[in-house]
Amino acid sequence: MLRQDLLNAVETHGAPLYVYNADVIEHQYKRLTKAFNSVNNLRINYAAKALTNLSVLRLMNELGTGLDTVSIQEVKLGLKAGFKPESIIFTPNGVSLEELEAAAKLGVQINIDNLSILEQFGSKHPHVPVCIRINPHVMAGGNTNISVGHIDSKFGISIHQIPHLLRIVELTKMNINGIHMHTGSDILDIDVFLYAAEILFKAAMEFKNLEFIDFGSGFKVPYKTGDIETNIEELGEKLSDRFHSFCKEYGKELTLAFEPGKFLVSEAGIFLARVNVVKQTTSTVFASVDSGFNHLIRPMLYGSRHEIENLSNPEGRMRFYSVVGYICETDTFGSNRRINEITEGDILAFQNAGAYCFTMSSNYNSRYRPAEVLWYKKKLHLVRERETFDDILRNQVDPSTIFSS
Ligand SMILES: *Cc1c(COP(=O)(O)O)cnc(C)c1O
Repeated sequence: MLRQDLLNAVETHGAPLYVYNADVIEHQYKRLTKAFNSVNNLRINYAAKALTNLSVLRLMNELGTGLDTVSIQEVKLGLKAGFKPESIIFTPNGVSLEELEAAAKLGVQINIDNLSILEQFGSKHPHVPVCIRINPHVMAGGNTNISVGHIDSKFGISIHQIPHLLRIVELTKMNINGIHMHTGSDILDIDVFLYAAEILFKAAMEFKNLEFIDFGSGFKVPYKTGDIETNIEELGEKLSDRFHSFCKEYGKELTLAFEPGKFLVSEAGIFLARVNVVKQTTSTVFASVDSGFNHLIRPMLYGSRHEIENLSNPEGRMRFYSVVGYICETDTFGSNRRINEITEGDILAFQNAGAYCFTMSSNYNSRYRPAEVLWYKKKLHLVRERETFDDILRNQVDPSTIFSS
């Protein structure tokens, strides 16, 4: 996918626009499976919430991933995209018993992250196999300094509650077929990951009918040069070895599962926006684009850095800009960025826009959500239409039903 392809995409579908490169997604998937190729039963469950476009889900399905879902709606999207129920795992937190039951009824693997619901679900449905989400309370403190942390995290069943958990399993006669952890952004390096894995392996020995162990995600991708990136190849080698020895000890060859979101789709996505205004103030040159945190909220929500390029003037001299949006709030995409000289009308490209970008977009300021395009087999394919005014009105009740005059 070349610069000109991106400009063509805007030409055809307008701005702002999300473009996803299927080649990058495939490359990342192959990297991951290759890193763990010594494991016979490997399952990569793509974490749908990163990017739920049906065509992206379908692409994942064609590549051979399973699907990790966090809501019944994501389960339904997965089924619609062609995933078989047995390829879907439902890993929510804090959802109702009814939602878990609805997912179980659709035939997907249930993952429960608290003892209250586990007890209720197990009492009512002892025959439905359940995976349990464990919180190993591990986080990286400093560089490679491993510490116990996040005692107050809302996620998972505390590793210290295993005795209580075992009592529930025994009394309800439910079947625990999987054990899971997802420590998210706490895990920054391989040693910490392996340390948490040891805790999970130890807990796994307490359950006799396991079919899989799921290590969640937390894989890092670089957002700028010098960023921490999970060395997947090294992790693959070390964790695979340890997994093999665990299976021997356990007496059964289990499935090793992961649920990457960002790793698969972050770098595949590019967000394109058009510069409406270049404004010179006393201290700053602002480039204002036809977007804002209604379309890409990560920089404002959690300070993520997305590299910004001027596609329209790649040879222009470098100048400093603050790139901001058009929303009536502070919506700074990047401060003091060196970008090729910007003229009003230019198209800026924001990198790493595949994960948690479109899926977090909103209609704030009554703006339309952007269109989405997939670059697949050397062609651009529209995979979501830009919204229209009808979408803004949808579900609003006509006020004349209340106000007669
Ligand atoms: C969000 C999520 C993931 C994916 O995390 P990434 O950082 O995008 O890889 C995996 N598992 C669960 C349970 C999640 O909630």
